[in-house]
Amino acid sequence: MKTISKKDQHNITPDQAIDLLHKGNQRFIQNLRFNRNLLQQVNETAEGQYPFAAILSCIDSRTPAELIFDQGLGDIFSIRIAGNIVNDDIIGSLEFACKAAGSKLIVVLGHTNCGAIKGACDGADLGLLTQLLEKIKPAIYQEKTFKEHRDGSNLAYVNEVAKINIRNSIEKILGKSTIIKELIAQESIKIIGGIYDVSSGEVLFFQD
Ligand SMILES: [Zn+2]
Repeated sequence: MKTISKKDQHNITPDQAIDLLHKGNQRFIQNLRFNRNLLQQVNETAEGQYPFAAILSCIDSRTPAELIFDQGLGDIFSIRIAGNIVNDDIIGSLEFACKAAGSKLIVVLGHTNCGAIKGACDGADLGLLTQLLEKIKPAIYQEKTFKEHRDGSNLAYVNEVAKINIRNSIEKILGKSTIIKELIAQESIKIIGGIYDVSSGEVLFFQD
C-alpha cells in the first residue's frame, strides 16, 4: 500500500474520501487489513504529509481512527477528545487540516457505549472532566424518544444521545468556522457524521 502523495490528495474528491474510509473500515471488520511497511512510510512521509481526511473521535481505547479505517502513516489527521466534543482549539485544528494541509473530508465520529456520554447522562462530577461533559449535555436535553431510564445504564438511550452529540459537534464546527463553511460551499470539502459500533467494529456514516 503506497503512501498518499500531494497529487493523490489533490485528486481525491470529498465523496471519494468517504469511500476510502468506508472501504478501509470494511477491510478492518473482515480482518483484511493492508500489509503496510510502516518504517518505509516513515521515510516516505519525512518530507511532508498529505492526509485526505481529518477525523474527530473519542479518546476511547477501542476507537483509534487509523486502525478502524485501516489507514497508514500520513493518511489521516486524527483529533481525539473524550466524547468527540468541539472547542475552539479543535476547530482550529480542523481548519489547519482542511485549509492549510488540503484534507477533503471532516468526519465527526462517535461510538456506541461511550463512557463520556454515559458520564454526561449520569451527571458525573470529576475535576476538569465536569466542564467537558457540560458540552455533551445539550444532546441529553435534545433526546426526546426515551421517556424513562434516561441514565448511563440504558445503552440504547446512551447511543441515541451519542448520535445527537455528533450532530451537535458538526453544527458547532459549522457555526464557528467561516473557513470550513466556505470550503464546504466551494465543494472543496465535506463534513460527515458517523458512529462506530464497539461490538462489531463497523462505522456507519450518517446519510444526511
Ligand atoms: Zn467515548
